[in-house]
Formats: sequence, C-alpha cells, structure tokens
Amino acid sequence: MAQKYRKLRLILGDQLNIRHSWFEEQDDETLYVIMETLSETGYVRHHIQKVIGFFLAMRAFAVELQEKGRQVQYIRLDDEGNEQSIGGNVKALIRKYGIRQFEYLLPDEYRLDQELKALCRDLDIESRHFDTEHFLTPRDGVESFFKGKKTYLLESFYRQMRKEYNILMEEDGETPLTGQWNYDQDNRKKLPKSQAIPPPLHFERDVSSLVEMLKDKKVETIGTVNPKAFTWPLTRRECLELLHHFVENQLHLFGTYQDAMTERGYLLFHSRLSFAMNLKLLHPLEVVEACVKHWKANQDSIDISQIEGFVRQVIGWREYMRGVYWAKMPDFAEMNFFGHSAKLPDWYWTGETRMNCLRHAIGQSLDKAYAHHIQRLMVTGNFALLLGVNPDELDEWYLGIYMDAIEWVEITNTRGMSQFADGGIVGTKPYVSSANYIHKMGDYCSNCEYDRKAKYGKNACPFNSLYWDFYGRHTNKLSNNPRIGMMYRVWNRMDGEEREKILRQAAEYKEGVEGL
Ligand code: FAD
Ligand code: SF4
Repeated sequence: MAQKYRKLRLILGDQLNIRHSWFEEQDDETLYVIMETLSETGYVRHHIQKVIGFFLAMRAFAVELQEKGRQVQYIRLDDEGNEQSIGGNVKALIRKYGIRQFEYLLPDEYRLDQELKALCRDLDIESRHFDTEHFLTPRDGVESFFKGKKTYLLESFYRQMRKEYNILMEEDGETPLTGQWNYDQDNRKKLPKSQAIPPPLHFERDVSSLVEMLKDKKVETIGTVNPKAFTWPLTRRECLELLHHFVENQLHLFGTYQDAMTERGYLLFHSRLSFAMNLKLLHPLEVVEACVKHWKANQDSIDISQIEGFVRQVIGWREYMRGVYWAKMPDFAEMNFFGHSAKLPDWYWTGETRMNCLRHAIGQSLDKAYAHHIQRLMVTGNFALLLGVNPDELDEWYLGIYMDAIEWVEITNTRGMSQFADGGIVGTKPYVSSANYIHKMGDYCSNCEYDRKAKYGKNACPFNSLYWDFYGRHTNKLSNNPRIGMMYRVWNRMDGEEREKILRQAAEYKEGVEGL
C-alpha cells in the first residue's frame, strides 16, 4: 500500500525558489511534485541547452528540497508511468496517494495558467493557488499603474519602482541620487579595439546522459550542446557565483557597452543572469541589491551610469514586461499591427547567410542559446521587421532558441518591443535601422561581403533598401508618429529615381531572401 499524503503541491520548472514560504512548513503529509513532460518539451521546439538546463535545474532543486526534509516526488521524462502531461501526472498521483488537496504556484505563462485552472475545475478535490513570491509587483501592477492610458511608458513605471524600493534614491525617497533618473544617453558606446573583454564564467558539467535520454525520447530540439561541458549555472549556489562574477568583473562597464556588438566575444559586459532569474533561482531584488552594494563600495571607480543601466533593466523592464503580459494577454499573442505575413527565412534556423551580423547573431544563438539584447533587437529582430515576417513565426523562433525564453518575457519583447506588432503599447516607435546603426555599434560590417554604405547595386547591404521599403510601405501607419516624422521628410525629399532604385533593390532582396 502506497504511503498516504493529504496535500499535493506542484512546482513548475521555472518556480525553483527555495526561499518560498511554502518550504518553511514541515508537514510530512504534503507531497511536492516536480516533473519533466513531453507536453512541456513539445509546445515549441526548444534549444537543446534550454531543455537540459531546465531539467537539470529541476533535478537539483528536488534534491535540495529533499535535503531540507520535504517529501518530493520527481518524475523524469523516461520514468515508466509518466503520463507526459502536467494534468495527467497530477491526477495519477492524487489517485495513487489518496490526496485530498491540490495546491500550485501561479504560473507566469498564460498557457499554463489556463491549463491549471482547467485542471482544478476537473478535479473533485479542493484546490488552491499561491503567489510565487518572486516579482516585485503583482500580476496586475502595471495595468493598475497605467489605468486609462493607451501607451505604457516604461520611464514613469521605472521611477515609481525606484521610489517604492528605495533604490539609488536620496534620503527624501523622492529624488534620484545625483538628481538624474536615467543615463541611457551615456550607455551607447561602441567597443574600442583596445578594450579587453572579461572571460565569461562557465560551469563545465557533463550532461551526456541527459543528451542520450532526449535522443531516446525523440525530443526535437534546435541548436547544439557540448555534452562534456555544459556552461549554464543550475543551482542557487552556482547562480550566486555567477552574480558575484558579474558584480566583480563586468558591472563597472555594463552601462557603457550595453548596446555594443562585436565578433570578439559573445557576452561582453552582460550578466547572463536572465536564466537564473527566470527560473527563480535568484530573486531580482537580491541581484539588484548585490550590484548597488558593490557600486556603493566602489563609487570612486564605478560611475553611477553603469549601475543605473542595470537597475533599469531588472526593476524596470523586467517587471514592466511581465505586467504588460498580464494586462494584454491573450489578445497580445494575436496582435499584428502591420499585418506582416512573410515567412521567416530558413537560415534563421541554421545561421547560413552571408550577412555577417545575422550569421554571427544567429550562429551564436544556436551555439550558446544566448544573444544579448541588442543582437536580439537590432540584428535578428530588426531584419525580420524590415522583411515583414509574420510575428507568429518570430515568436516561435525566439521562444525556442534562448535559454531564458519564457512566454511572459519573450512575447512582450518580440511582438511588442521588437516587432511593434502591438501598435505601440510597449514602444513609441518601431526599432528599425539601416546598416548605419549596426556599424555604429559594432564591428560586424568590416568583415561582411555586403557594402554597408550602398543602398542598391552589387553587394549593397540588404538592411539599407529594406529600411526605406519598410517606411515606404507603412506610410499610412507611421508617418504621423512624431518620433519618425524626420525619416519621412528625408524619404519624401529623395529624388524619385533614387527611390525607385531602392525599392527595386528591396523587392529583389525580398524575392531572393533565402540566398542572402
Ligand atoms: P543583461 O544585459 O545582463 O541585463 C540584466 C537583466 O535585465 C537580464 O538578465 C534581464 O532579466 C533584464 N532585462 C534586460 N532587458 C530586458 C527586457 N527588455 N525585458 C525584460 N528583462 C530585461 N529576456 C528574457 O529573459 N527572456 C526572453 O525570452 C527574452 N526575449 C527577448 C526577445 C527579443 C526580441 C528581445 C529584443 C529581448 C528579449 N529579452 C528576453 C530581453 C533581453 O534581451 C534579455 O533579458 C537579456 O538579453 C538577457 O541577457 P542577460 O541576462 O545577459 O542580460
Ligand atoms: Fe550586416 Fe549589412 Fe553590416 Fe553586413 S554590411 S554586417 S549585412 S549591416
């Protein structure tokens, strides 16, 4: 006869918060369940490192909970009897152990939120849900903050967060330290050749057996992994080590080179902490506090613009995107302001293109399951927007390829910030550029077959003609936007023949996009 439990508590793969108040309770009649299922590996084609990273972090978390004296049932993907869906496994455990109460932590994804609500309706026992105790704002925090507004301006939300959590504030709690809220203008430098890049902290773990298991279970993945040296941090201890590494070695130049791109290294001064935070192994406030503490102790050598840039990303953008997600789902996932319908070029899945910036950003994503923000926004996202790619296809790509991709933060960044498919909820204008910006911020163009200066003709950089083609075809939707007016004035002043040539070049490139 199986042991009896009274209560079943579900922990999802991105809910690995050991400091949650749940785990303070010592109750031997409560069974915690963590599971690997084909339903979660299969709702989109994920990067192999992402699947491995999630599974191994979940396995390590189960061990940590057991060591804390909690009763844990861990279901592996290849366990006999795995029903391969969350609902199926929960129901089987309820039957097996005679469970009388089901509890779960609120999921961050709309899809799972709906699934668990439906499961609870289906169960004939009592069910309850709890907050994950991870975010600094409630699910509806952004919605209430912007009540009645069409555009959700990040800056006002961010300032409110600074005040509320008293971060980088004067003693009055109202004035920002130094009197300036935002140093974004200072954070846009290209990386000089002479600037050394600190080596990333990599954790070298043998994951061969998991790679084999995924193969046996026929889990379809994208990207590559070195089975002998898996680099991501998977436990809270390792994540704290990564945080420490960032604070000591990268924070001092984080702001300055936040937007820089280079072939010389994949990480530059970025933290690579999104995976740790998104799985809840680290709390956003502890991350920010560690950075502020380090800055305070080193104010003579670290400028405030470096730390402000980082704080804005974590307590500003990250919280804001989550709030936008809950304010606008499920409609957000359907938005397509420009009515874009082009297919994502096949080379997004292989990196095989002659455009050096895209080859580099995509190749690195396939290789490392990581690209920094400007690579995602101004290289892969920018090109897809210029091309007019259907945002559904793009969401699938971004949701699969990155280690940190979970829908609440992926879709708001992709459909919202990057593709302007929300018509301007997240951003006030589309993030598009010609080769000018990519050259200004990086070193890709000097190593490229295409000519960054040419708009048409042999080897003209495709970004240039597609850029004007984008503005040309969306005149009705964009020309009244005060932030873009200048571009339309330039376009309208351009000689008619010149415009013809640019549009002809763009049409040619769109037609032959697979060969670019
Ligand atoms: P750092 O540059 O070190 O920044 C520090 C932290 O700030 C990050 O770890 C992250 O938690 C937070 N942050 C920074 N920018 C954002 C942002 N725009 N939105 C939310 N949080 C932010 N981030 C994800 O976590 N998951 C995604 O699936 C994701 N998809 C994206 C898709 C597109 C098209 C774009 C343009 C951005 C996306 N981002 C996503 C945001 C951002 O690019 C990543 O958070 C960042 O690159 C992660 O690397 P890092 O930890 O080294 O970040
Ligand atoms: Fe990219 Fe154009 Fe520069 Fe080549 S020239 S790296 S395609 S922006």
